[in-house]
Amino acid sequence: MTAILGALFVDMDNVRARYECARSGCTQPHEGPVFGADEVKAFVDGIKTEHLARCTGESR
Ligand SMILES: [Zn+2]
Repeated sequence: MTAILGALFVDMDNVRARYECARSGCTQPHEGPVFGADEVKAFVDGIKTEHLARCTGESR
């Protein structure tokens, strides 16, 4: 099953990234933004997994 639960935004010009969760009931729907090449890379690599672990929403 595929569902869009969030969106990752990466701004390569200004070297920043953020994540917005679209799941209702999310306790922390906005992650970031983070700045800097290393931070952005780590954020992009891990945010979906990290956020899903943190995003309990209502469906547990
Ligand atoms: Zn969430």
